[in-house]
Amino acid sequence: MNFIDSFQVKENKLFFSGKDLNDLAEKYGTPLIVYSRKIIEDNIDRLNESLNFNNFSLHYAMKANYNPALLSIIRNKNVGIDAANFNEVSLALRIGFKKESIIASPNNLDRRELLNIKNTGVTINFDDISQFETISDSPPDTVSFRINPGIGKGEFEGTTTGGKGSKFGIPPDIAINGYKMAIKSGVQRFGIHMMTGSNVLDASFFRESIGIFFSIASRIANETGIDFDFIDIGGGFGVPYRSGENPLDLKKLGLYISENISKFKDLFKNKTRLIAEPGRYIIANSAIILTKVTSVKSYDKYIIGTDTGMNILIRPALYGAVHPIISVNRFYDKAEKKGDIVGQICENTDRIGKDVEIQKCEIGDILAILNGGAYVASMSSNYNLLPRASEILIDEDRLFLIRRKEELDDMISTFIIPEHLKLREK
Ligand SMILES: *Cc1c(COP(=O)(O)O)cnc(C)c1O
Repeated sequence: MNFIDSFQVKENKLFFSGKDLNDLAEKYGTPLIVYSRKIIEDNIDRLNESLNFNNFSLHYAMKANYNPALLSIIRNKNVGIDAANFNEVSLALRIGFKKESIIASPNNLDRRELLNIKNTGVTINFDDISQFETISDSPPDTVSFRINPGIGKGEFEGTTTGGKGSKFGIPPDIAINGYKMAIKSGVQRFGIHMMTGSNVLDASFFRESIGIFFSIASRIANETGIDFDFIDIGGGFGVPYRSGENPLDLKKLGLYISENISKFKDLFKNKTRLIAEPGRYIIANSAIILTKVTSVKSYDKYIIGTDTGMNILIRPALYGAVHPIISVNRFYDKAEKKGDIVGQICENTDRIGKDVEIQKCEIGDILAILNGGAYVASMSSNYNLLPRASEILIDEDRLFLIRRKEELDDMISTFIIPEHLKLREK
């Protein structure tokens, strides 16, 4: 992958989805997250073309990015939702997703929260038998358990969600007891779920993990007599973040999944629905973050200071994640030397790029950080009392502000000073 291909170049200027990036930075200020409706829709179309199985549904994992404008685009493409908790379910319902097209995969909720989700009519992938037991006196119509199939793969340890020691899911042998318990409570409809890790570029991992998962589902079906209504293989489809990485081969992915469907055809004989829950794949490359260079130091290390730090983009500090970064003003120059791109946060981990080969930078330059759509805005914070970024959407040739930058009053609006501590005029 050569990331300059994500842009268009006209008269030595850099464009994203048809818009001049310098103009956008000037008009809206920085940090600014710029989304492209077309890229989101293309990503969904590509998934649907390659994964065109009978009774197949995509459910977008909205934790990747829950901006309501973006959710609306996704709803209009007839994609469903995977929600992590009651708030996410509630927002999805407000945006107009039908309850049948929402699935919830929460973990470690209390009874109240689980009942809240259940009462909306949304199906829950229970992360443990104990989560089901918490509400088994008023069981939902459909019960699904999240299986830990014993393997996991993610780009980082922090994004691997299956395998030994995982905080997620239930070992297969134990899950059987959960299904038996649900049958005893009168439940008649069932699903089964796994999610083993995020940002996997290797299609053959999915061949293996889905094969293991389907064989576990078959065994559970045989031992309990259950016909699954749905089988949910989770998300995790990766996108390249480093130059030279190849995109996930969706054709192969589709082929490997259909091989597994044929191999376990008994599982699918009764119109069983196959579900996938991609988050990153749908939204990551649909956005770039624009940031302004605010200082340049060249002592023992080349340090490029910007207005975008770990409050806006935490993935590098959190996992050691890498995001491609390009100089908008000088992209046509050769990368000059390696530098760290840093923000304004009082932490030495506040580096959004480490040893980045970047063009010469001067104060006032604009940089573009790629793959800004997934796990960026939704993970951002007000650390150091800094606002989260403004967000805009490019929709054909029109521009829409879809999140304004927070003001100081927004950020402190939930704090309360007890009366007796307030400064009193003497
Ligand atoms: C995060 C998550 C996803 C989406 O993961 P991606 O790597 O963004 O595709 C899907 N399902 C569940 C249960 C998740 O927690």
